[in-house]
Amino acid sequence: MPTIFIDGREIQADKEQTVLEAAIANGCELPYFCYHPALSIAGSCRVCVVQVEGRSWVEIGCNMPVSDGLRVLTDSDLVREHRAAMLELTLLNHPVDCGICDKAGECTLQDYHYKYNGKPSVSVDAKVHATKYHELGPRVILDNERCILCSRCVRFTREISKTNALGIQQRGDHSLVRASEDGAFERDAYSDNVVDICPVGALLSRSFLHRARVWYLEPTPSVCPGCARGCTVQVWHRKQEWKLHALDPAKNTRIERVTPLDNPKVNGPWICNKGRDLAKVFERPRALQPMLRGSPVTLDAAVAAARDLVAAAKRPVALVSSWGSNEEIAAFAASLGARFAGFVKQDHVAHPGDGVEDHLLRRPENHPNCAAPLARFPAWNGTLDPVADLVLVWGEGSVRLPEGAKVIRLDSYERPELADADVFIPISIQTERNGRYTNFEGVVSAFSRCFAKADAVADAEALFAALATRSDREAAA
Ligand code: SF4
Ligand code: SF4
Repeated sequence: MPTIFIDGREIQADKEQTVLEAAIANGCELPYFCYHPALSIAGSCRVCVVQVEGRSWVEIGCNMPVSDGLRVLTDSDLVREHRAAMLELTLLNHPVDCGICDKAGECTLQDYHYKYNGKPSVSVDAKVHATKYHELGPRVILDNERCILCSRCVRFTREISKTNALGIQQRGDHSLVRASEDGAFERDAYSDNVVDICPVGALLSRSFLHRARVWYLEPTPSVCPGCARGCTVQVWHRKQEWKLHALDPAKNTRIERVTPLDNPKVNGPWICNKGRDLAKVFERPRALQPMLRGSPVTLDAAVAAARDLVAAAKRPVALVSSWGSNEEIAAFAASLGARFAGFVKQDHVAHPGDGVEDHLLRRPENHPNCAAPLARFPAWNGTLDPVADLVLVWGEGSVRLPEGAKVIRLDSYERPELADADVFIPISIQTERNGRYTNFEGVVSAFSRCFAKADAVADAEALFAALATRSDREAAA
């Protein structure tokens, strides 16, 4: 382990690290734009400069390997002067349109300018103009005037998504990021990650474009239910203190955007585009009204009717959701697991483009929690015992019922067959509760509540205990 000194502070570095990586790992502040821990070194932005003690020049920290006894300065007069000059160059043609830029509030160029330069431009020439609105594809918009040519987006498509979909054309201040002409960027299932890694507001998500200022939002940690990888994500929504009173109240409880939550055990800093579109999954029309054969009733009446059906059943079968949390599945097993013949039903229903496996993250299973329910119950083969007299269907999907069997449905989203159930009980969705999923490799990840559930909606974990008799619980124990 080489010992290095950063501004006189002794640091035990890893021998594979660069000076910038050792500085970041040990809480020493060094600015950077083009460096990204998951990408190759480009060394183009030149703001991570350091001065080796005794030398009269500066060098970039992102490409300087550590060596035993190395002594570097990150705040010498020479470093400060060079860093300020590089920021001035970076800003030479950058428009100061932060007021309409979605990156404002998260832009490192903004932050570094105020921290390390802060002076007005000394240029007397007009800024060079470039394309202000260029569609890189249906999901990502490029503002070339804001681009600082760090090449992170280009390296992402070469090294991570491996589509080689982006490149840089021309030279000097005419340089432009452009997509390859064969449409590879449009087909890149991970394309939206370039929006996160762009250090400025050059790459913008069409779905988030001018939708909200980021300082009105907050992230809640969650897990993408799109496939069995179970990527950890941040679900962004409006802060309670910035709640809107005059406009549509639904804007206070909608998902504004979804970004990756860096997790080395599961997804690293990336997610696929399907994970970005979780609002389309969670914000489908909800089923919020408990019903007895299609007639609205209170939640208490529906739970009482379901409990009577459970108590009277001789051969009950349960289709257990693979979208249920570990806690809900454990609650079902503890309360009703002995009474019901349980089978794991795939939940949720496949959408176009689902069921793909690739080199990076995507898995063919369309549901988030295969491992936890399959550890307790066998997979459902699509048929039901013809003499079953009660079927509890938990979650989405069509089921062919045995003749004469009663049915209890637990679901969250509107669908016609809910009105045919003897008892329908609406249940909360992932954004309305806390829980955990176990992914296909056995890694457990937690998700947290960001919105309150409606009063008539049940929490499945509590519901299973309410449906069981004491003898059911004793038998399951
Ligand atoms: S668009 Fe963003 S990520 Fe790509 S080169 Fe320009 S500044 Fe870097
Ligand atoms: S790889 Fe799977 S879990 Fe990860 S973001 Fe995509 S759909 Fe969601």
